[in-house]
Amino acid sequence: MAFKLFKNGDDLYSEGNELIKRGEFSKARGVLQKSINKEGGVNDVAAAQVALIDMMGKLDKPDCYSGLIAALKNLKSDDFDFGLTHVDRDRLLVEAELTFRKVSLMIQRAQKKDLEAVSKNLEVLAQEFQEKIGSDHLIIQEIFNNDTTVTGTSEFFNLMAVSFEALSDSVVWENPSKAAEYEQIAMGYRKQNGQSGSANEARFKAYNNTCKCWLCGRLASGEGIHFYSAPADISPALALESSCEGTSKNRDEESKHIYICRACYSAVSKRADEIAYGYHQKAMSEMRAMEARLQAEISSLQREISTLRMMRSN
Ligand SMILES: [Zn+2]
Repeated sequence: MAFKLFKNGDDLYSEGNELIKRGEFSKARGVLQKSINKEGGVNDVAAAQVALIDMMGKLDKPDCYSGLIAALKNLKSDDFDFGLTHVDRDRLLVEAELTFRKVSLMIQRAQKKDLEAVSKNLEVLAQEFQEKIGSDHLIIQEIFNNDTTVTGTSEFFNLMAVSFEALSDSVVWENPSKAAEYEQIAMGYRKQNGQSGSANEARFKAYNNTCKCWLCGRLASGEGIHFYSAPADISPALALESSCEGTSKNRDEESKHIYICRACYSAVSKRADEIAYGYHQKAMSEMRAMEARLQAEISSLQREISTLRMMRSN
């Protein structure tokens, strides 16, 4: 039996995969990189494994998917092992390309820019997850989160919900009742995906909620956007004169809050800010005057002390 002094690319590859199985990824990366250097191939399995290791902790960054996509496109073999997971190259390539788009769109969604276009692109992407992956589970989720419950179909429901939530955000400023409709649709998708949809339900109720402003009497729909509830002291006589029901309500049932439209609310809060700022300035100038008076007294006392000391020493 020949004694092997140097490990060849295959030995390094097996060693790398053993380390992946044990969860020692940075060691595995070093060994796999050596294997790539020995065999001189960016087109071998080790390169795809290195690309996967480099994705750890960065799954919300689009760039990490670009590296994997390039490695998979170069890869000669149809399948490979990553630790205990057997990976089909083409399946992972499709998933990586879709996920790259998903992560990019989710970043745009969070930035709230071009929400209508983002919503449309999310819908197209959702359908592609359904058509191209369907009931198969996502390999990236299996590898990185040990989760085989996320499928192309569950991504479809998830992305459709996000799409309608983005649409809701894009119209709520002009049309809260339309936004409420979109939230209801989003809630339906979340429920089909096994989620509660309670956040959608809360927004649906708030956006559909209408009141009559206690101050100006205007009707306003969309709680938290176009009108607010403000704590107030409502006496029984005033409670009798007001309403807590239907779209003309101007106070809550317990007579502890009044409803105020955004315009009145902002006017009152801006005026309150001005008054508070005035008090702040007045208090600061009084403090400065007091400081100057104290400083003058201290100086006068210091002078007296030094005079007394001089008298005593003479
Ligand atoms: Zn008002």
